[in-house]
Amino acid sequence: MHAAPFAFHAARDLKDALEVLAMSPGAAVLAGGLSLIPELRSRRRRAALLVDINNVPGLDGVTALAGRPGGPRPVLRIGCTARQADVLAVAARHPGHALLAAALRTMGTALVRQRGTLAGAVAQAAPELQMSALCSVLDIRVTVRRAADTHDRAARELYAEAGPGPGELVAAVEVPGCRSGEGWAFLRAGRRTFGAHLGGVAVRLDLHPDGRCRGARIAPFVAGHDGTALAEAGASLCSGPVDTQAVRRAADLAARTVRTRSDALASADYRRHLVRVLVRRALVQAVDRTRGPFGEVVS
Ligand SMILES: Cc1cc2nc3c(=O)[nH]c(=O)nc-3n(C[C@H](O)[C@H](O)[C@H](O)COP(=O)(O)OP(=O)(O)OC[C@H]3O[C@@H](n4cnc5c(N)ncnc54)[C@H](O)[C@@H]3O)c2cc1C
Repeated sequence: MHAAPFAFHAARDLKDALEVLAMSPGAAVLAGGLSLIPELRSRRRRAALLVDINNVPGLDGVTALAGRPGGPRPVLRIGCTARQADVLAVAARHPGHALLAAALRTMGTALVRQRGTLAGAVAQAAPELQMSALCSVLDIRVTVRRAADTHDRAARELYAEAGPGPGELVAAVEVPGCRSGEGWAFLRAGRRTFGAHLGGVAVRLDLHPDGRCRGARIAPFVAGHDGTALAEAGASLCSGPVDTQAVRRAADLAARTVRTRSDALASADYRRHLVRVLVRRALVQAVDRTRGPFGEVVS
């Protein structure tokens, strides 16, 4: 199928992109195009105008802002045309961003990551995909620009609003990492083809040296769930030592409180079972990782 006719504008600079977006309420931002173009071609989506931001200078940076031991978490500031492959290359060099690196490695293939942008993966606001859970577990923030103003907001708000509004451009994404001593895990089930995705889970765990839990985020990404962290399951870990029983209890609570949906790939019940299994495995990995600096597994 062919896309419905649309106009095309290759933005010269950021000001140009924002002005054109402000004047055209039916416009869509074109980044890597890996999600947008198939949507237009299948006519699940229409856009009167595509504003191509790929040649806008100065938007492709990936900057690592260091955290201090015991201090604030390290942060990656990612411009909106930075490719997922470039982000992965930087994240893989910084132990504090190992959770982001693990998530990116599950997103499509190396070829997909060469083209797709991280900002595009957030802006598409798909609740059942990896970035949705990562936004909940890492408190990712976005810088949203309009012709008239700029504001920073929690990336999760974009999911609640099904993406940026008319005239808005996600100019940058800020991804905090893990502090030294925090544990994390990222697990996904399904093939790497787009659409053959069964579900997954992201976990971040802050354990006291005596084994008690100071905080836990458990966020599944699975059809039917909105990608938010499961508060009850996370809180259940903080009521005593994080042992095998506590992990099982949290996994059962996660399976009970997650919302799942059936589709051609799997039933809602199967996905609920998957969440129980993945949360249990992820928590075991995360606890192991709390024993090494920046969450390295100590063997
Ligand atoms: C084989 C295959 C497998 C894939 N697997 C996965 C996967 O496992 N997980 C996953 O998350 N994705 C997956 N994808 C999608 C891929 O990662 C996309 O690149 C990504 O989701 C969107 O990034 P993009 O740069 O291509 O955005 P585009 O397709 O250009 O845009 C996506 C949406 O976001 C909007 N947008 C983009 N950038 C901005 C911005 N800066 N400001 C405002 N709005 C913006 C667009 O208007 C559009 O609505 C897969 C794709 C393929 C082809």
